[in-house]
Amino acid sequence: MGRLLVVGSVAFDTVRTPFGEATDVLGGSAVYCSTAASFFAGVNMVAVVGEDFPDEHLAFLKSRGVDVSGLERRQGRTFRWRGEYTYALNEAHTLETQLNVLESFRPKVPESYRNPDLLFLGNIDPDVQTAVLRQVARPRLVACDTMNFWIEGKRDALWAVLRDVDVLVINDAEARALGGDSNLVKVAKDILSRGPRRLIVKRGEYGALMFHGTQVFGTPAFPLEQVPDPTGAGDAFTGGWMGYLASTGDFSETGFRRAIIFGSVMASFTVEAFSLDRLRTLHYKDIESRFREFKRLTHFEEIS
Ligand code: AMP
Repeated sequence: MGRLLVVGSVAFDTVRTPFGEATDVLGGSAVYCSTAASFFAGVNMVAVVGEDFPDEHLAFLKSRGVDVSGLERRQGRTFRWRGEYTYALNEAHTLETQLNVLESFRPKVPESYRNPDLLFLGNIDPDVQTAVLRQVARPRLVACDTMNFWIEGKRDALWAVLRDVDVLVINDAEARALGGDSNLVKVAKDILSRGPRRLIVKRGEYGALMFHGTQVFGTPAFPLEQVPDPTGAGDAFTGGWMGYLASTGDFSETGFRRAIIFGSVMASFTVEAFSLDRLRTLHYKDIESRFREFKRLTHFEEIS
């Protein structure tokens, strides 16, 4: 079984949705991704927290088998994000971002993490993503996320890191901003001609599209009756497909497609509760059973 290295944010999130709110709860891209991946593979995490980060959150990550020896604890406060969702749950509206210790975060990859099979570069400064890549032996697969802030503010640095990335995973608004067109198919063609071999576009409740060469694969999001909090769906999606790939080592198109469904399964569980609460009680058999439901959801017969 392969190991996944995850670099990203650890956060206290304050989230309001039409269905409730939560204050200073555990979040962050590295936490959602690592926790989702931990159901499939070994995970090493590199991130930073402040002095205010409680041991109970560390204990939770450890209980999931996540290796947190790469989690730096620095003087100051942990990164904080405050966001809100309206009834159109697809888009988070950021109300406040306090970078705190994340502002000067220069990840140091521990010696024992420097040979990852897969690497996920969460949404951080593209120069910092490049610095992480330089610290590790070339993994079999590197995936990267980003956000509008970097697309607008550090476009050249972002394109530079994308040349060394296998899979770019972004949401549809980010894809349009990066590709400079409203049509996702055109955007995908442009992005793939300039860097990553695959592009995965996350489309919230509409699922995801994966572009690879001339092939496109689409998955819906799992239809749920209640979505109290969509935070973390994107990162759990990535943790799910990367963790699954790490566990199988099958990077064929078929293997990738199955992995994307596992990603969608993990995203669907994540949005069933605030923070990581649903993942805390999740069992692997629940994952398998929803995978099968996904198969039924999308199955249809070829015309004869
Ligand atoms: P998503 O999977 O896209 O819903 O990601 C949600 C997570 O991203 C939240 O738990 C936030 O703490 C984290 N986040 C939001 N803004 C930033 C940022 N500027 N840098 C790093 N992480 C962020």
